[in-house]
Amino acid sequence: MATKNRGSTRESKLSMERKPIWDTATKKQLKEITDISKGYMEFITRAKTERLSTDILVEELEKAGFKPIDKVRKWKVGEKVYMLNRGKNVAAAILGSEDLTKGANLIASHSDSPRLDLKQNPLYEDNDTKLALLKTHYYGGIKKYQWVNIPLAIHGKVILGDGKEVDLHIGEDPKDPVFTIADLLPHLYRKKQGERKLPDGILGEELNVLLASLPFDDKKAKKKVKLWVLDHLNKEYGMIEEDFVSAEIEVVPAGPAREIGFDRSMIGAYGQDDRICAYTSVKALVDSSKLKRTSISLVIDKEEIGSDGPTSIKSRFLDEFYSRLLELRDPDYPDRKLRLALSNTFAISSDVNGAVNPMFKQVHELQNAARIGFGICVTKYTGSGGKFSSNDASAEFMGLIRKTFNIAKVPWQTGELGKVDEGGGGTIAKFLAEHNMDVVDAGPSLISMHSPMEISSKADVWATYKAYLSFYKITI
Ligand code: MN
Ligand code: MN
Repeated sequence: MATKNRGSTRESKLSMERKPIWDTATKKQLKEITDISKGYMEFITRAKTERLSTDILVEELEKAGFKPIDKVRKWKVGEKVYMLNRGKNVAAAILGSEDLTKGANLIASHSDSPRLDLKQNPLYEDNDTKLALLKTHYYGGIKKYQWVNIPLAIHGKVILGDGKEVDLHIGEDPKDPVFTIADLLPHLYRKKQGERKLPDGILGEELNVLLASLPFDDKKAKKKVKLWVLDHLNKEYGMIEEDFVSAEIEVVPAGPAREIGFDRSMIGAYGQDDRICAYTSVKALVDSSKLKRTSISLVIDKEEIGSDGPTSIKSRFLDEFYSRLLELRDPDYPDRKLRLALSNTFAISSDVNGAVNPMFKQVHELQNAARIGFGICVTKYTGSGGKFSSNDASAEFMGLIRKTFNIAKVPWQTGELGKVDEGGGGTIAKFLAEHNMDVVDAGPSLISMHSPMEISSKADVWATYKAYLSFYKITI
């Protein structure tokens, strides 16, 4: 009688082998993957900026019964609270049965993504072509040549001279116009552009957004096309040119998230770093209940430019949230309790890792690289050049995370961001660790990270959500 070769059981017991989730998923799991990725694609389609992302997450939290922390007077087990910071960060918690000084289970993600910001005085008319354009200053690490010749949308907040706030959202509705940055035609590019190195293919000062070509009907006006734009902005939004100074306007890829591939197994969208983690961590919190340790989801801003400023992880917002939580038990709690609560916290820095791109495998050391569709990637350390500027999670904490994911049957893998000395990058993990808490990076891996169309696997969205659900349940 023939036996099927299933491989050595001894080998599968002892060696670390990883398979695509698609190979092993049950019917029930495939249904869960479809459901969560549908919700995620709706979110990522709408959440084009850190402000929009925060607005949508707060909407979700409120729907699930989370209350602004100001409206809650006393610690009640199972109570759901949230706190907003400047419309750009949100922290949300489910109050646990255990005292907060024993620590919380915290998942911290970021909702800012690389993009093009408008300069302070951005609008100009080119004399020779009579075209109006907007000057930009890119935000975060981008490959500039990727941002030309694609439809772009404009989102932002403008504070008018009288203090009134105006929101701009143009280019997402199929009826809206879009904007674009024009590249040089191949017929004429060889000398001027063709001899440049790839990072300089498009220069920062060449990232100017095409805006208008109609003249304003006024014979005496010097810059008629620019005036047409100013007149339009004035009529539509009450703006004058000086209002650009008190504005945050972001130029991002226009249009919805798309399914990728014949099999629709992947998701292509702008801003998945790191809104894929913001979505899955908040959803995991919303779907949690009856927890011993207080669970917290924190979504912060400014990660992509080094985590500076009052909406970044380096601000004292997290301390403030913890102190508000402590005050619910004791309005005059001693300072030491805040330090204890923070230092006893277990944290996941919930951020994406770079997945192997089949065309550029050589930048990875394949035994230690993440693949899309293989589950959440646990990244012990990030950094560059000998683990510099990195939180290097301890063996003990890695042990707790691994055990937690295994017990919950979460598909997980490990991965470094590229070969040793190939490049590198950082996350907010090291800033969380400044509170003396245990932290590790864990999130899905993406192909084409930081590009206008980042690619994730639907299966990883699900695995990440499952991983975060299991993390919130950790007790010691
Ligand atoms: Mn990130
Ligand atoms: Mn990033």
